[in-house]
Amino acid sequence: MSSAEFGPDINKINKAKGALHAKILAHNYQIPEVHAVADVIGDSLELALAARDTDAEVLIVCGVRFMAETAKLLNPEKRVFIPVPDAGCPLADYLTPELIQESRLRYPDAAVVVYVNSSATCKAAADIVCTSGNAVTVVKSLPQSRIIFGPDANLASYVREQVPEKEIIPIPADGHCYVHQEFSLDDIRSARQIGGTILAHPECPEIIRHHADIVASTGRMIRIIKKNDEQVWHIFTEEAMVMRLRSLFLDKEFHSVQSAVCRDMRKTTIEDIIRCLDGLQGEIFLDQDSAEYARRSLDRMLKASVS
Ligand code: SF4
Repeated sequence: MSSAEFGPDINKINKAKGALHAKILAHNYQIPEVHAVADVIGDSLELALAARDTDAEVLIVCGVRFMAETAKLLNPEKRVFIPVPDAGCPLADYLTPELIQESRLRYPDAAVVVYVNSSATCKAAADIVCTSGNAVTVVKSLPQSRIIFGPDANLASYVREQVPEKEIIPIPADGHCYVHQEFSLDDIRSARQIGGTILAHPECPEIIRHHADIVASTGRMIRIIKKNDEQVWHIFTEEAMVMRLRSLFLDKEFHSVQSAVCRDMRKTTIEDIIRCLDGLQGEIFLDQDSAEYARRSLDRMLKASVS
């Protein structure tokens, strides 16, 4: 879509946002057209904080379903919508409340930490939530020395490296994000041939993290690049992050691994946002009982990571 074609859509969206007192929250992995109409762009933690602090009456969450659920959990009195209701997260699908309960029976002395990439019912069954940006802080904040951690086994192994004094038990043992799992040592070698700094997301497998220069969540990647004079960066996470970085740092060079595309993150288009605002379609409704427990787990995370 050219910028000339896109202009009327931006005006239409801004008008609808004004009439509804709505705000658009978009994840870093959304496409540039979606970022162009967003009020807040960020990683999961930044979107969660924005959702908690906003005075908007309607929230449109451009990302995947668990992000919209999280916004609703933090704003139960507000209307929260997702423009593409079937945009899910295959990583989140690895975890179920039943698996959490089985693990609790097996390890009764352990605390249960779930990654924000999980359903509201899993958050309700957990003790506390974390994001990739605060997982280490959250685990360190807990008194228990044994931690059940799901659903991302790669993030669990990253936390284990950072908090060696605790036992981290991943549930399930093989939960992963297919986008990050597919990075290879060949991708690392190609990056090294070009030169520059390699930034890898904590969802990457251990071997990729160990060969990277820095491991960071997408929000922290932005802060690191801002403070650093390095001109050439290799970004080992979803490819749209590179588009976001190019728009933020015009004088720097960014490389991505082009196959690193999340099919669900790419589902949302400008047309979907217009349809969502026009018909107020895709509203998030949660079971009240489990929402109460899920909110408690999220609140604990916010207290542990922000205080
Ligand atoms: S990039 Fe991976 S973790 Fe993120 S939404 Fe897509 S599948 Fe889930």
